[in-house]
Amino acid sequence: MCPHSPSCPSPDAKDREAARTIAAHPEQGWSLLCNGVVLFEDTGELLPDGVAIAPHRPTDLASSAA
Ligand SMILES: [Zn+2]
Repeated sequence: MCPHSPSCPSPDAKDREAARTIAAHPEQGWSLLCNGVVLFEDTGELLPDGVAIAPHRPTDLASSAA
């Protein structure tokens, strides 16, 4: 799926968000990465196999730790 060389992280990699954006829809709040992951502006993700990842903003992590 990824046309880049070296190839971008796979959808199941921890750094999947490091893949390049191939379609950005800021007016709708999401963008499609070349590994098939849909990345939402609230940092939520939708993986190619239909798995949804909850938003994980650093601010959320900081507040839950406090
Ligand atoms: Zn790529």
